[in-house]
Amino acid sequence: MSTPLTTTRNAEISERDRTSVFHSWSAQRTLAPLPLAGGSGVEVWDADGRRYLDFSSQLVNVNIGHQHPRVVAAIQEQAAQLTTVAPAHANETRAHAAELILERAPEGFSKVFFTNGGADANENAIRMARLTTGRDKVVSHYRSYHGNTGSAIVATGDWRRMPNEYSRGHVHVFGPYLYRSEFWAETPEQECERALRHLERTVQAEGPDTIAAFLFETIPGTAGVLVPPPGYLEGVRAIADRYGILLILDEVMAGFARTGEWFAFDAFDVRPDLITFAKGVNSGYVPVGGVAISDAVASTFDDRVFPGGLTYSGHPLAAASIVAAQQAMADEGVIENARRIGEEVIGPRLHQLAEDSPLVGEVRGRGVFWAVELVADQATREPLPAARIGAIKAAMLEKGVLGFTADNRVHVVPPAVIGDADAHRGLDVLVEVLQAEAARGA
Ligand code: PLP
Repeated sequence: MSTPLTTTRNAEISERDRTSVFHSWSAQRTLAPLPLAGGSGVEVWDADGRRYLDFSSQLVNVNIGHQHPRVVAAIQEQAAQLTTVAPAHANETRAHAAELILERAPEGFSKVFFTNGGADANENAIRMARLTTGRDKVVSHYRSYHGNTGSAIVATGDWRRMPNEYSRGHVHVFGPYLYRSEFWAETPEQECERALRHLERTVQAEGPDTIAAFLFETIPGTAGVLVPPPGYLEGVRAIADRYGILLILDEVMAGFARTGEWFAFDAFDVRPDLITFAKGVNSGYVPVGGVAISDAVASTFDDRVFPGGLTYSGHPLAAASIVAAQQAMADEGVIENARRIGEEVIGPRLHQLAEDSPLVGEVRGRGVFWAVELVADQATREPLPAARIGAIKAAMLEKGVLGFTADNRVHVVPPAVIGDADAHRGLDVLVEVLQAEAARGA
């Protein structure tokens, strides 16, 4: 991220960090990382005390806002009592965390397997599906991200997918994306039918009895907040049932208030067999993720070993942060707030922006999970070039808003606790910056 480093404190920390820390997903030479020193609620501040509205929720994970006092206190209390425990032992905080997640899962879910983050949640869900079905292949979307580990990065379908000769059996399909439909569908219904036919034909061509699972983000996130058309996920479930395939829904980014639901799939008539989660489950205060497991899958391991788990699986500090975050979300109406802000503030303002700005091709989303797709030409839908997206992000930062961009999009993904005034403040900046960028031209 590039930002004007006007003061010595900011500049010094940025330089120390850049010099000694190998940054993820970055070329190292050109980095100028923004030093963040603190945060509270929807704001963060840098080393010189300059405040920013966090319209990124960091990596779309700080759903409950920064430094929530209940979550911070729970971590401190747990730290004073017991800071680590081997996964094989029992622990009350960990059991409580699992119980709270199962309360939100559909009926028939009976177990939670804890991991250290989202990628290894998907790794383990894939392994469970393979061992349960005795089949090998996993079908996922081209437009998807499932994490940056061995199988998760091969299941990923977008530009981040990385070859791994040891992780076999990954097949990709084009899920629904009406704005850039592969077959020029004109309505959501046509795009839904296109995607379902394509999925079923792929299953038949691959051989249904070779496919263990579909691994789909309920709403593909970093690929563009691609809200599926009505009927798509229900159709996916029907195909899975027809061929004895398990359905893994990746709720790592979409889960726990992001879409104005506990789980994003709650808004659809679909029931997965496995749910992977991370990020919003505890807002990232301590690294954690997991797999919620339906009884039908869990029971296949009643009398045989599941070969999975890491030293820190179900870490007590992570478990304490989950318990507190889940309770705070329920007590403080965070889900309802996210839904309302999406319906009353973010959605209407972004749709207005789409009408007003020549740079906006489409806006999509719900809750506090929105993408503004930017184009150089509305008629041809040619994506706005990366340099101009970078300029837009930098201009937002200059005006005190920490934005999130991916490909040719700005994602509007603030914490789910954001109020009307802050949402308007961030959106005002986005509108102003896009106006200036449109006036500036290519
Ligand atoms: N799945 C989805 C949908 C994600 O968005 C991400 C991260 O952005 C992951 C999995 C990987 O999670 P983690 O980075 O915690 O491993």
